[in-house]
Amino acid sequence: MEFISLKSPERVERLRALGQLRDTADAGSERIPTETSASRSSKRLGLDPRQVICLIDANKFYCACERVIDPSLRGKPLVVLTNNDGCVAALTPEAKALGIRRGMPAFKFRSLVEEGKVEWRSSNYELYGSVSKNIAAILADMAVRIERYSIDENFADITGIPGDPAELGRAMKARIYEWQRIPACVGIANTKTLAKLANHLAKEWPVFGGVINWLDLAPHRREKAMSITPLTEVWGIGRRMGEALQNLGIHTVLDFWKMDPSFIRARWGVVLERTWRELHGIPCIPFDEEAAPREQIIRSRSFGHPVTDLESLAAAVSQHMADAAMTLRQQKSAAGEVGVFFHTNFFRGDLPQQNVSRVVKLPLPTSDTLILTKIAVGIVERFRREGFAYQKAGVILSDIRPEQSSDIPETLFCEASDREKERRRALMETLDGLARIYGRGIVTTASTQLATGWEARHEKLSRCYLTRREEILRAH
Ligand SMILES: [Mg+2]
Repeated sequence: MEFISLKSPERVERLRALGQLRDTADAGSERIPTETSASRSSKRLGLDPRQVICLIDANKFYCACERVIDPSLRGKPLVVLTNNDGCVAALTPEAKALGIRRGMPAFKFRSLVEEGKVEWRSSNYELYGSVSKNIAAILADMAVRIERYSIDENFADITGIPGDPAELGRAMKARIYEWQRIPACVGIANTKTLAKLANHLAKEWPVFGGVINWLDLAPHRREKAMSITPLTEVWGIGRRMGEALQNLGIHTVLDFWKMDPSFIRARWGVVLERTWRELHGIPCIPFDEEAAPREQIIRSRSFGHPVTDLESLAAAVSQHMADAAMTLRQQKSAAGEVGVFFHTNFFRGDLPQQNVSRVVKLPLPTSDTLILTKIAVGIVERFRREGFAYQKAGVILSDIRPEQSSDIPETLFCEASDREKERRRALMETLDGLARIYGRGIVTTASTQLATGWEARHEKLSRCYLTRREEILRAH
């Protein structure tokens, strides 16, 4: 691979020859899309080029949640570990200053923990999920509509709301902090990709106070910002795509912005061209109000300790299935296929190895926990062998369709009358209702209770003040 320096005139010549770089002499007029080209492209997609989109992203979300329920952690170096307390999932800048990094195995900084220099917590997704829901509710109240993009990121459409968008952005940030004590940054623009970029800049430059409206920035400031931002910070340009572009000497957002879109389309396709257009202020990625229902639901975990007995393996698989089936019912779907997998520790070459992965096609799609669990446990019973130490197990629900087209399989309940079907549906509703009030796992299938001790390690799990009644915070 040949390295071409960013500023070398040779590189500019080569790129120009490849047709990737427009002649800078006449670039000014061509680079900025005219109103007509923008509106033509957006109209085709039914998108309004004058739309105003915010991207609200919580800062260091997992750590911030832990600090909400344990204020003594504020200002201290804090690390949240992944499932099974294995590696660093999230960390605060104070922990980063001690040399800890994301993805680092926990044992590498054990001495810092022992010396009391850093605090750590097991990941508590129940807590993060409930705070995330509260933040979404705050934003839904202030915007025309919102799209929950991830656990700590929301897009908010504020098109047509009177007043200064940046002012509204600041109000959102303030209310999220006031009501949830979660710090957040807001990026505002007329495309989702630019809103993401503005959000990134708001995080990088504290001088903006955590809110940047791209539309307020003068063209030379936009160029400056793009020229110092690595290409891989652009939404939709992942590590691999970034590497491919870097090999062509495209390092910054500005380099990419200056490329010829027809070259991008010819070489990488319309998806990357869309990213380019979005960076030029032409909306191409529609606003998704409702997240599309998942096409596959996977639940899996590594065990806290190697598992050798049938009961523990069946209990783990039943627990995963209960979780997966509840998610299935929440999105009002049913699954046509049930998959189960479990395997031994591949890194222990000295131990016997087994890797099981089986899928069963159902006669009729269902979301009934009892039916799905029965099938999953059946797979475990058939394929688990004596003398193997299993490290991980999981379930996969696939062939997912809308609930209406499903029913309780007649083959399993030959006599299943309408009343019986109704009874089972009511049972599932009750199960979900109890889980909503008392937390997941309050009522379970008997098979999840066959054994304990297989659960993933989470030694320092914060309490679920927000979602479990028995863990509610008491004030004395
Ligand atoms: Mg975040």
